[in-house]
Amino acid sequence: MNAVDSARLPPRSAGNIIVAIDGPAGAGKSTIARHLARRFGLLNLETGAMYRAFALKALRAGVSLDTVSALEQLAAHTRIGLEPADGDNRVLLDGEDVTALLRDPVVTDAASRVSIFPTIRAWMVRLQQQMGASGGVVMEGRDIGTVVFPHAEVKIFLDAAPEVRGMRRYDQLGPQPALQPEEVIRDLRARDERDRNRADSPLRPAEDAIILDTTHMSLEEVVRAAEDVIVAHLASLASPTRH
Ligand code: C5P
Repeated sequence: MNAVDSARLPPRSAGNIIVAIDGPAGAGKSTIARHLARRFGLLNLETGAMYRAFALKALRAGVSLDTVSALEQLAAHTRIGLEPADGDNRVLLDGEDVTALLRDPVVTDAASRVSIFPTIRAWMVRLQQQMGASGGVVMEGRDIGTVVFPHAEVKIFLDAAPEVRGMRRYDQLGPQPALQPEEVIRDLRARDERDRNRADSPLRPAEDAIILDTTHMSLEEVVRAAEDVIVAHLASLASPTRH
């Protein structure tokens, strides 16, 4: 199914809405998506994990991350699956559970690099559209509200100042003597730069997205604000004045 077909999907009810969460690295998308999925009984699908899994395969195969033809060939023989597991996703690469390997900084950097290529993105987008076609999902990434599900009922774009995102990511990684916060902030900026400036589906908020700048918000405040957006949408579905 492509983006045009998804426009023909029937109107959705509370149980099968699509919630798109987009934003730069470290904005809190995964945490918020997990909360929303639990709260509203939706499936949580992390699309970044799919790019990471493919990047892992490219690294293992020794394929150049800058040679699109080699990556395309590899993609043609790659199966990537996301399985819901207690709010998170188990990521299957050609049937192998690679979930625990995907947060490695080398994989993180590689994911950011392979995701600039339009043919790789088109393949991923197709998979993501298939996974979310029946609705009832919170899908999290960079292009969900703009490209994967432009007709998603709820679109939230999470953002925060780079230093704040970097520090949050640093705290998440836990104590690592060799790692300085400045390094985390620098890597995050480099990924942002690539995501925002790539020619194909650059990172940007959809026109109809609700933008939450979380720079000065606590996690609880962000969760509440995101929940409110969905509650308001569900109330509009239930309202008898709706056409
Ligand atoms: O979200 P996460 O940090 O796991 O994503 C890894 C990388 O995959 C990002 O740096 C981004 O470049 C890419 N990505 C993307 N489109 C998505 C999700 C992730 O380009 N929908």
